[in-house]
Amino acid sequence: SHGPDHGAEDKVLVSIRLRPTNGEVECWDVNRSQHTLKVQEQYARASGTSPPEFCFDEVLTGSDNKVVYNAAAKSHVRAAMDGFNSVIFAYGQTASGKTFTLSGSDDEPGIIPRAMKDVFGYIRRTPSREFLLRASYLEIYNEQIHDLLSTASLAQPVQLQGAGPNVIITPLREEVVTSLKGVREVIERGNGNRRTATTDWNERSSRSHSVFRLVIESRERTTAIETVMPTSVSGGNVPQTLGGPLLQAKNGRSVRTSVLSLIDLAGSEKATSDKDRTREGRYINTSLLTLGTVIGTLAENAAKGKNDHVPYRNSKLTRMLQPCLSGNARISVVCTLNPTPNAIPESTSTLLFAQRVK
Ligand code: ADP
Ligand code: MG
Repeated sequence: SHGPDHGAEDKVLVSIRLRPTNGEVECWDVNRSQHTLKVQEQYARASGTSPPEFCFDEVLTGSDNKVVYNAAAKSHVRAAMDGFNSVIFAYGQTASGKTFTLSGSDDEPGIIPRAMKDVFGYIRRTPSREFLLRASYLEIYNEQIHDLLSTASLAQPVQLQGAGPNVIITPLREEVVTSLKGVREVIERGNGNRRTATTDWNERSSRSHSVFRLVIESRERTTAIETVMPTSVSGGNVPQTLGGPLLQAKNGRSVRTSVLSLIDLAGSEKATSDKDRTREGRYINTSLLTLGTVIGTLAENAAKGKNDHVPYRNSKLTRMLQPCLSGNARISVVCTLNPTPNAIPESTSTLLFAQRVK
């Protein structure tokens, strides 16, 4: 574990976020100045084996999503614009605040809308490069990947093809986005498709991982290109590249490509009913367990200069993310918890996950 003096170069940034408790008694003693979460006697007894005190990069409380964005996402979004793959996860039991953290509300936009605002802001401030942004939106449910932007895929899951760091998702719909409004429309369309395909929306959303992906391509702008095709639209909008992806480096200008992945994970709660012990429950457990092992191993490899085997292949989520997690990728995990006494067992397991990935 690291103290508050973590460097920007840390492979994995791990934050804890405690949601407000609706007037219930709080069972945590949060020491913000030292960035530690002191855990009371009650907790230690409830958890049995866990250590009485954990230490993370950030301990966040309250409802201010800007504070959370600045602490847990901003530098990762910036890294993605600079060409590094970045992945941000929200992990926690159902109703602990994962969706509030990532998507937020109209009043308190979460990490996804704030990230997109920063992306377009960065593009505006970087006239020396031209950018192409492609958004996709996926759901993993029962170890099957669905493309939320394709109504066909909700019936027929998409596949992973290729091996290791070269794996690709196919077929995948990627929408070129040129404005915040465009991104909002893509997300709304995906959420609409997801609702339509789902008989029990709450159940499904708490049992599936949702993955918003933005592929960021950029290359140095040249005058030649500017005369050939308009690269910006009037009204202070974002430079827009017409035509296909910038995949080929043209005229010797190298193309920088990175992926920003923003992931709202399935609820981490343990099976509590017979229904929960069925297929979905087991799949969720396996994939969250694998995710913990994968991130934990990556963090350990980075910190100690080791090259231990990373078991990406043990779940669809980690297989799909392998190209985005390996190499120079930056990872941020926001672990959300509900700091009330009756959530102690689940909060304990969330803290253990957080400790495992740090
Ligand atoms: P999850 O996605 O983990 O299941 P949600 O994000 O849907 O949980 O949160 C459950 C409820 O609690 C929602 O109504 C949400 O608006 C509210 N909530 C969660 N976290 C916070 C917070 N930090 N401040 C205010 N309200 C919150
Ligand atoms: Mg949710």
